[in-house]
Amino acid sequence: MKHKFVKTFLPLLTLIIILLFLSSRHHDPDRSFKRTRLLMGTIVEISLFNSEDQGDAEAVVRGVFDEMKRLEGLLGRRQTGSDVWRINASSPDPVPVSREALEVISEGLRFQELTDGAFDIYLGRLSALWDFDGERTSPPPPEDIEALLENRLAGGLEIDRSESSILKRGDLHLDLGGIAKGYIIDEASRILNQKGLRDFIVNAGGDMRISGRNGDRPWRIGLQHPRRDGKVFASIDIDERDIAIVTSGDYERFFIHKGKRYHHILDPSTGFPADGLISATVLAKDAKTADALCTAVFVMGLEKGMAFIEAAEGVEGVLVGRDEKIAVSDGLRERVVIRWKESD
Ligand code: AMP
Ligand code: MG
Repeated sequence: MKHKFVKTFLPLLTLIIILLFLSSRHHDPDRSFKRTRLLMGTIVEISLFNSEDQGDAEAVVRGVFDEMKRLEGLLGRRQTGSDVWRINASSPDPVPVSREALEVISEGLRFQELTDGAFDIYLGRLSALWDFDGERTSPPPPEDIEALLENRLAGGLEIDRSESSILKRGDLHLDLGGIAKGYIIDEASRILNQKGLRDFIVNAGGDMRISGRNGDRPWRIGLQHPRRDGKVFASIDIDERDIAIVTSGDYERFFIHKGKRYHHILDPSTGFPADGLISATVLAKDAKTADALCTAVFVMGLEKGMAFIEAAEGVEGVLVGRDEKIAVSDGLRERVVIRWKESD
């Protein structure tokens, strides 16, 4: 049950690595504040820097974690009673949904269009069939995958904004797993901003939104080596005042069958795991965008994925191909240090 072990400990290792890389020594330790909570299947850490009042920070961060948990309860495919669960279970009647679910679904559909279908929120039934969080140790029969691909093509959603309801056509199921975490990170960041905080990091197992300054130096973020647990293969200097950085990898949820790795990012055109990349990191102005786009470029593969990143406004990225070839977007080239070999 290697994947069980990886599932449990990899987020922790990733977090530790990233913490090592965040050079918080440029901050007054008395004025920095960190708390972690287990959410969205990973360890979420909120770090505040230069915060004046620790008592206040405690209450603010607790409120942020509670809100993140509430949102997770609306958007999760497997959370019984969540908005997504109710849409998936619905018959041909419109389902009333929260403003938040409506927004994430609309945004998911927008990214679906923007990425020419590489990002796809209609893969719920396929995700359930592959069941990467469960006990599956061999791929499902190809005819079952084929049947669900056909089912997916026959379906769609009608969104009624004035009624805040969604009508499902066909028998498809939604899966917002490729964008929900990013959206929730953004919401956490929005609340922290609203409370007057400026220098902070919201880090959900290595997917993060970074705000403000790291003293007079750039933040230095380490990227998880996709083949060496707990090692970093590259570091990026971040000097933007507000930026999100999100990674999709084939090492996050997977099983190995007859020497072949099957992982949780599906190519919507085949119904099988996308096989061009082993890791994709995207930087964007918000975590929702970075999250959706890194899943999408993972599906596109090295060349198409990098061309997409270069063409997109305000988007940068680091991609690692199956042959361990590393591609860095133009805007990052001066700020990335590759340490692939040193991680051996
Ligand atoms: P991420 O880790 O952000 O790349 O998202 C992967 C998760 O998104 C999976 O666990 C699925 O829930 C879902 N997913 C898988 N393939 C896709 C895809 N092609 N487009 C959108 N979401 C996907
Ligand atoms: Mg994603």
